[in-house]
Amino acid sequence: MGKPTGFLEKDRIPAVKRPVSERVKDYKEIEILPSVSETETQASRCMDCGTPFCHNGCPLGNIIPEFNDAVYEGNWKYAYEILSTTNNFPEFTGRICPAPCESSCVLGINKPPVTIELIEKSIIEKAYSEGWVIPNIPQKRSGKKIAVVGSGPAGLAAAAQLNKAGHLVTVYERADQIGGLLRYGIPDFKLDKSTIDRRVQIMKQEGIEFKTNTTIGKDLKIKQLETEYDAILITTGSTTPRMINITGSDASGIFPAMEFLSQQNKRNANIPLTVNHKGEAYTLDNILATGKNVVVIGGGDTGSDCVGTSNRHKAKSITQIEVMPKPPVGRAENTPWPNWPNMLRTSTSHEEGAERLWSISLQEFIKNESNELVALKIGDIVLEKVGDKFEQKITNIREIPCELALIAAGFLHTDHNSLIDELKLQKVELDERGNIKASSSYQTDSQKVFVAGDARRGQSLVVWAISEGREAARNIDKFLMTETKLEGKTISTFDLN
Ligand SMILES: Cc1cc2nc3c(=O)[nH]c(=O)nc-3n(C[C@H](O)[C@H](O)[C@H](O)COP(=O)(O)OP(=O)(O)OC[C@H]3O[C@@H](n4cnc5c(N)ncnc54)[C@H](O)[C@@H]3O)c2cc1C
Ligand code: SF4
Repeated sequence: MGKPTGFLEKDRIPAVKRPVSERVKDYKEIEILPSVSETETQASRCMDCGTPFCHNGCPLGNIIPEFNDAVYEGNWKYAYEILSTTNNFPEFTGRICPAPCESSCVLGINKPPVTIELIEKSIIEKAYSEGWVIPNIPQKRSGKKIAVVGSGPAGLAAAAQLNKAGHLVTVYERADQIGGLLRYGIPDFKLDKSTIDRRVQIMKQEGIEFKTNTTIGKDLKIKQLETEYDAILITTGSTTPRMINITGSDASGIFPAMEFLSQQNKRNANIPLTVNHKGEAYTLDNILATGKNVVVIGGGDTGSDCVGTSNRHKAKSITQIEVMPKPPVGRAENTPWPNWPNMLRTSTSHEEGAERLWSISLQEFIKNESNELVALKIGDIVLEKVGDKFEQKITNIREIPCELALIAAGFLHTDHNSLIDELKLQKVELDERGNIKASSSYQTDSQKVFVAGDARRGQSLVVWAISEGREAARNIDKFLMTETKLEGKTISTFDLN
């Protein structure tokens, strides 16, 4: 399999990125697709290790060594066929997956791992350009109808799989566009929205119906869906932000990250800001970082997306603060191979410029007489030994200028709204985190109602949402037809959240 000596002869060449000075002027994707021959060379580094941990590290169970081998052999169509058996949307994961597969690549023990994610993207882009990605219309319809609520990656993956099994699928979406966080949340410079349109077009040709601007629980009740459909799958995501209630948090100039990011997605698409990403009438102003001192509160990926967007707005300064200590530069000892490593990550947005501060306690939002945010009071968190115990102390309390604070401190749970109220009346329970509880077959306590994606597991990753959507589809198919031919996961995976 692969080239037995490829990993000895060739170095890892990661994705080439557009120069910072050029890319901050627009919202176009940052990575440049490598040539066919460059990708074949990278695929040759896959070393036939015998026990491919990468396969285990991928939440979808992508059959990585096999598609690497096919690419190395120049058999791209076969590589695409292999990839399609486990992943409905490699064009999304190939762009924005954090690639836990690469962290568990056996080559990664003592050399840089195979560029699995980039090879995945190259396969699907070649497949599109060659015209291999075509509508797969089921030959026989089962006569069963399924409603999918939410059009993020979980809902889309489930819809694709259920349609493939011959069921008639309708996807309901409260926003004005399909895609969930792929559309409104993830910046265009990470994922160009034409990749969603291209896929949705194919899904429509396959027979899937999409209804936007329809909030289930408000415009249509679950009870109505239950009379019309044989099964309902809830994939409504988990986007209730964790806000920060401290002195001054009522100042103007403090916004949840999602509002800031989704507004920019809309501007890029020339969609007027009349309804927000939840399909509700806008009550917020234009949130712009231009000329402002921006502080992003939260050191994670959503925060990093705010940094990239603020740079494109031409902010005066950008500071990202994080309560946790700075992670080690390399893999931490407590997360040895093949685990997902705890380590410092520098995103493409960080490369574009921002000050990053760790172990920071946010003490107060400082505002002026007009209730406008003007600064943040912050302090350093230090551990001091008191007797035989460590105590947390806040030192070096100071003010940093800030006219725009973007809260990226994580997400609590799925939105608790009229849909959840209705589900509760049907004895559907929430888990201890406030997400929708389901059995291992993704079924809730209401027989016809299933749940998958972030609405079930909490805010996670696109690759997990696709995996959950596929697994839920298998279980719904089994529920309706007593058995299923839909592909299941080939192996169990490490649970990376
Ligand atoms: C800013 C940001 C950046 C991210 N970046 C990455 C990344 O780079 N890589 C990665 O792997 N993951 C990333 N994630 C996480 C990833 O986007 C999510 O885990 C994933 O999208 C979850 O998919 P989902 O289908 O479960 O839910 P979502 O994508 O949240 O989709 C849920 C959909 O349901 C709709 N909906 C909700 N309620 C209703 C209702 N009552 N009626 C009708 N429709 C409804 C919503 O409008 C939404 O469209 C990011 C998340 C955020 C917030
Ligand atoms: S989906 Fe993510 S984890 Fe799986 S092979 Fe692709 S990049 Fe790796």
